[in-house]
Amino acid sequence: MFDIQNIRSQFPILSQKINGKDLVYLDNAATSQKPLLVLDCWMKYYTEINANVHRGIHTLSQLATEEMELSRRKIQKFINAKHDFEVIFTKGTTEGLNLIAYSLTNLIKKDDEIIISYLEHHSNIVPWQMLCQRTGAKLKVIPMDENGVLQIDFLDKNLSEKTKIVSVNQVSNALGIVNPIDEIISKTRANSNALIVIDGAQSVPHMKIDVQKMDCDFFVFSGHKMYAPMGTGILYGKEEILRKIQPFHGGGEMIASCSFEKTTYADLPFKFEAGTPNVGGNISLGAAIDFMENIGHENIQNHENALLDYAQKKLLEIDGLRIYGEKAKRTGVVSFNLEGIGIASDVGMILDKLGIAVRTGHHCTQPIMDFFDIAGTVRASFAVYNTFEEVDILVEGVKKAQKMLS
Ligand code: PLP
Repeated sequence: MFDIQNIRSQFPILSQKINGKDLVYLDNAATSQKPLLVLDCWMKYYTEINANVHRGIHTLSQLATEEMELSRRKIQKFINAKHDFEVIFTKGTTEGLNLIAYSLTNLIKKDDEIIISYLEHHSNIVPWQMLCQRTGAKLKVIPMDENGVLQIDFLDKNLSEKTKIVSVNQVSNALGIVNPIDEIISKTRANSNALIVIDGAQSVPHMKIDVQKMDCDFFVFSGHKMYAPMGTGILYGKEEILRKIQPFHGGGEMIASCSFEKTTYADLPFKFEAGTPNVGGNISLGAAIDFMENIGHENIQNHENALLDYAQKKLLEIDGLRIYGEKAKRTGVVSFNLEGIGIASDVGMILDKLGIAVRTGHHCTQPIMDFFDIAGTVRASFAVYNTFEEVDILVEGVKKAQKMLS
C-alpha cells in the first residue's frame, strides 16, 4: 500500500522549518532529498568498508569492490541493460554526455550532422557544439511549438546518411514535457545509421526505464535526482559501440598495460572509469534503487502524476497565471509565470520566506526561455514524498506573491 506518511518519515530533512515555516520542498528536478536507506548505506560504507576498489588484495578493498559491482548489477537490472559491463559509473548526466561526445570524436567528420531538440538542457547542447567545433560537423535542432511539443516531422526531412548522432531528453527539465522518444528512435532507425543518445536525467526518477526495449545506443542519468547522493550518475552504452569508441579520461583503473611507449586499455566497463570512483556514492545509488523499488514504479508514477494534475488545476485558478507546456503530456514539473510580474525570482523569494523551495530562472535551458521571450519561469517539481497539502501551500503562496508584487 502507498503510505505517504511512512515515505516522508524516511526523509528527516523534510521535517524541519525554513524561515519559521514547515519546509515544502518542490525543487526535486534540481535534486531530490535522500532517504534513510541511502544515508545509512553511505554511513555504513564509510564506517565499515571504506577502501579503494579493484586494486587491493586486502579484505576491505575486496568488500568495497564486491559492493560496488553488486550495485552495478542492480543498476543493470533497473534499466534492463543486457550486460553489467554496459553500465558505466559517472558523476552525473553532464559527465555522461561529455564522455559520449568526446569519445565519438574519431567517428565524426566535417559536414556530418548531429540532431538535438529545442527542449534540451545546456548539458545536451554544449558538448555537441564542442564536438562540432572539433570536427566541422553541423548541429541541427528539432523545433517545438507554442505548447512545447517537439515537431518531429522535422526528422522526416532532415535525417539522412549524414546524420551521425541524435541526442534528445526523455523528459524536459524546464517544462516537464515527456518527449515522443519512441517515435524519434523509430524514425531515426528507419532513415539513418545515427547513434541515439537519450538524456534520462528527468525521466529516471519518474518512470520505468528499459533501454533494450527503447533501443537507444546510449542512456545517461544522474543519481542525485533519484534519491542517491550527489556526484553519482550512469552512462549506459551498447556493448558493440562502447568497444568501438575511445576512452574519455586516461589514468589509473582504465589501462590493461602501460609503458612509456604504449598503453592498452582495460576491458569494459573500466575503460571508461579512469581514477578512483565515488565508491560510497555508487554503492548508495544501489540503495536508492532499492528505495524506489520498495515503493514500486507504478505507485511513484501514479502519485506524482496525481500531484501534477492537482497542482495544474489549482494554479490555473489564479488569474493571470500561465503554465508553459500546459497542454502537453508532462511529468514531475509545473513551470509558470504570473502576468505583469517579469522577474520569476521575486516570486521565488517570497515563496522561500514561506518555507517553499522552488526553482526560478532559465533552468539551464536558455533556448526555451528565448522561444517564449521570457527571462525565466517559476518551476515547482515533485518527488514521491510530496503531498496534496503541499500543493495547496504552494498555491496560497503564489497568490500571496501575486498580491505583494502587483
Ligand atoms: N539533463 C537534464 C534534462 C537535466 O535536468 C539535468 C539537470 O538538471 C542535466 C541534464 C544535468 O544533470 P547533472 O547536473 O546532474 O549533471
